[in-house]
Amino acid sequence: MIDENTIEEAVNKIKSYKDRILSFISDLVSINTTSSYNNEYDHVEEKIVGRIIDECDRLKLPYRLLTKREGRPNIYIGNIDSFPKRTDLLLVSHSDTVPVSDYQKWKSNPFHATTVGDFLYGLGTADCKGGIAICVYITRILFDLGFTNVKALIGVAEEVGADADFGVNYVLDEGLNAKYAIYTYAGKKNEIIIGHRGLLRYWINVEGESNHTGLLSWQERKKGENAIEILNRIISRIYKMKLNKKTHPNFSKYTFNHTVTLINGGNGESLVPSKANAMIDVRLLPGDEFEEYLHRVQNIIDKVLVDYPKGIAKIEIKNNIPAVCINEKNGIAKILNDVLKEDGIKDILLKASGAANEGYMLIEKGIPTICGFGFEGGEMHRENEYIKMDSMEEILLRFIKIAYRIN
Ligand SMILES: [Zn+2]
Repeated sequence: MIDENTIEEAVNKIKSYKDRILSFISDLVSINTTSSYNNEYDHVEEKIVGRIIDECDRLKLPYRLLTKREGRPNIYIGNIDSFPKRTDLLLVSHSDTVPVSDYQKWKSNPFHATTVGDFLYGLGTADCKGGIAICVYITRILFDLGFTNVKALIGVAEEVGADADFGVNYVLDEGLNAKYAIYTYAGKKNEIIIGHRGLLRYWINVEGESNHTGLLSWQERKKGENAIEILNRIISRIYKMKLNKKTHPNFSKYTFNHTVTLINGGNGESLVPSKANAMIDVRLLPGDEFEEYLHRVQNIIDKVLVDYPKGIAKIEIKNNIPAVCINEKNGIAKILNDVLKEDGIKDILLKASGAANEGYMLIEKGIPTICGFGFEGGEMHRENEYIKMDSMEEILLRFIKIAYRIN
């Protein structure tokens, strides 16, 4: 447990670093790290990791780069020999962001951290660049206090399905271990995220046969097979599927859900389309069977294709990560709950999130992980994403208190 003198020292440290933390977050936001399914081979995070290294150098923090894919380095921060230790607290964040959803609806430049009152707006502030600052500065402050059982990891390519084999997965394969982990997403002050829904993302790839749309051979359906028409019929039947909508005690109102998120198709204005595809994003609770779901989708495809003998439609799985939830009554969940309670936080909620993240990798490795706890913030994956600045000092101190409870 932390004593009064250490708390006082921690508060002074936090105050002395506060301005540097803010300018660090601003710099991180100004570096575009948009990752998407079609820029896997770009050097998305190289520049931001350079900026994180500068901060580590200035703060005299040791670090190690772990790079499996060129230009996309993961960065471990902490004592190098602590990397495989099973006794430490691990703080986790990621350095990429989703694309800007709708420029017109942003009240400020998404790549410029903009302060309005207590709010700091910018793409990635909540998810998860504020978290990068937590990782770096909490490690520094704890080291300053003489507490060394802490380390941090900032991974890459989280936003493309949280399962890249060159991101956190790779670092865990390299031997990173910990007693507990906290993924430093921003959220509500009173919420402790103890798990997340699973995520299944798949493409339906359709092939038809091209023809000129003005020809009699098309009018009489003797030549040509419209891939968009096939895809359209498959999707509308998928939407009519009866879904199991049961809830789970740790997942509040969340249930199974699926949504079409991307659609491509066609070759030209007057061409019968020979290609079309769509991505379906599926969210699952523990116990929801993705095999059974995909089996039903396959049945739909088979039935639709009866009317299109020359058509082909195939399922291609892009992401498949499980739903997870840690024990909410002990371990790291209890530690957070106790610290929040002692800090006078009312209506504390321990719940799993609807959105998936890399928490499952750590949990499956045997590291009980809080899948979201950090600055107050919101509007992730939307316009006007923000973190709140007035509670920043209070929340950083909470991380210090949590660390001291782990030993
Ligand atoms: Zn995200």
